[in-house]
Amino acid sequence: CDTIDKATTFIRSMDTPICLSNYVSGELQLPSSASTTFINSVEPKTGAIFATLPCTQPSDVEEAIRQARTAFKTWSKTTRVERSGHLRRMSELLRAHRELFAVWESIDQGKTLERARIEVDRAISNFSYFSTYILHEQTAARMVDGVALTYEHRSPAGVFALISPWNMPLYLLTWKIAPCLAFGCTAVAKPSEVTSMSAYLLGVLFQKAGLPGGVVNIVLGDGPTTGQALVTSPLIDGVSFTGGTQTGIAIRQATAHQIRKHLSLELGGKNPTLVFADSMTSSKREATIRIAASAAFENQGEICLCGSRIYVERSVYGEFVLKFTEHVRKKYVLRETVGAVASLQHYNKIRGYLRQAASENATFHLGGVSDPQDKAGNQGYWIAPAILTDVARESVVQTDEIFGPVVTITPFENEEHAVELSNDSQYGLAAIVLTADGARMRRVGEQMEAGLVWVNCWLVRELGTPFGGMKNSGTGREGGDYSRDVFTVVRTLHLPA
Ligand code: NAD
Repeated sequence: CDTIDKATTFIRSMDTPICLSNYVSGELQLPSSASTTFINSVEPKTGAIFATLPCTQPSDVEEAIRQARTAFKTWSKTTRVERSGHLRRMSELLRAHRELFAVWESIDQGKTLERARIEVDRAISNFSYFSTYILHEQTAARMVDGVALTYEHRSPAGVFALISPWNMPLYLLTWKIAPCLAFGCTAVAKPSEVTSMSAYLLGVLFQKAGLPGGVVNIVLGDGPTTGQALVTSPLIDGVSFTGGTQTGIAIRQATAHQIRKHLSLELGGKNPTLVFADSMTSSKREATIRIAASAAFENQGEICLCGSRIYVERSVYGEFVLKFTEHVRKKYVLRETVGAVASLQHYNKIRGYLRQAASENATFHLGGVSDPQDKAGNQGYWIAPAILTDVARESVVQTDEIFGPVVTITPFENEEHAVELSNDSQYGLAAIVLTADGARMRRVGEQMEAGLVWVNCWLVRELGTPFGGMKNSGTGREGGDYSRDVFTVVRTLHLPA
């Protein structure tokens, strides 16, 4: 284990793993518990161990929470201008270290460097957006029949557990930390044990930014030990969690008796892309295929919003499968714009679904169980993009979230059938509708059982819009006013007129 300087000065050494540490009360430190164990961080592109991180034990988690509670007493009373200044400084520092974060995010997660840069830019926006939001937010006030003036008064909701997954580590953690701090709360954040590097680097930046100690604390470790201790602690007032649906259910169960605890759960998805025949005319075809392909394979399909179930109107089905396959081969296979999948465990999960599809006699137009590009071990974890047809509606390949570079294509007969197939899922996170018909955009869009619907585009985000899922994709919304609802408590005051 080497010193933290290796990471911050960007000297990469594969024979001496970097030792990642927690960030507690303004200090980068290893946990004090003698029973602390360590977890290896593996680079998905090579299979090499490049870092180790502590699996923080409950006693050290509790200490971090106590530091956050102490800091809350003063941070919750700071002015908006003061908090805005801290967030602005963080966005500037992150911008100054953009390339360092992008390179490490790519090493740690397996994503391409190009994709990592986009996500660092989005993380910068998370800080800059909330730094200005709080300067302009408005409060509702009403006069009741000349008898009383009522107004909403909001105050910071307390100390939050912020927990994120491994697919977009920096972007998703800052999507929680920035509003949490902006609204006057303090935090104990925990990244995924699979991808902790950017959270560790963020701790280095918070220290550099001069953020008061204890306002943000970052503890590293796994879900059952570190995450469980964090979310169930009675000293935690709220949980903002992004991750899998099963973990969301476990967190809900473990905290069910703590009614006062705010819970915001952003969970899994198995999102439909609908391709109508009018989006496949000669002038529209190229854009339709480009959008459907990037929605399927961006970040190796490891984005909760990916469209992994494609439904195509019967009259253009054959043409779509052919052109789509051709495009994916050129853009994602030959040009190698797909990264490695995040871990060996995830590689095995995805390969399991490919074997299942083969056993059910699915047709593979690209990829497959014996694709020469697929490899695991000391060469990294690589899976070639897989395009499947002839997969039954009830097959787990159609119904489970695979979260990898695997897409199914199925024909539909008419609009009603398309809506029925799309909504036939336990999930309800996102949907993509590709059509040239203006009335249909609204008609179909408004019937999608999904928190986010993109028409003729994908992944377009404005940070004030509500983000979150329906059904088993989560509860609550985040973004702008919706994040304010997560991180504040509201009381209504009635004053005599
Ligand atoms: P995961 O649920 O296994 O882990 C997510 C985080 O929760 C990790 O930090 C993990 O250590 C922690 N954790 C695990 N068990 C815990 C417990 N009992 N208590 C507290 N914390 C615990 O998910 P993952 O495999 O890291 O990520 C993939 C999932 O995340 C996919 O389902 C994907 O769709 C989802 N996701 C959702 C969104 C969204 O915005 N809805 C965004 C990105 C990813």
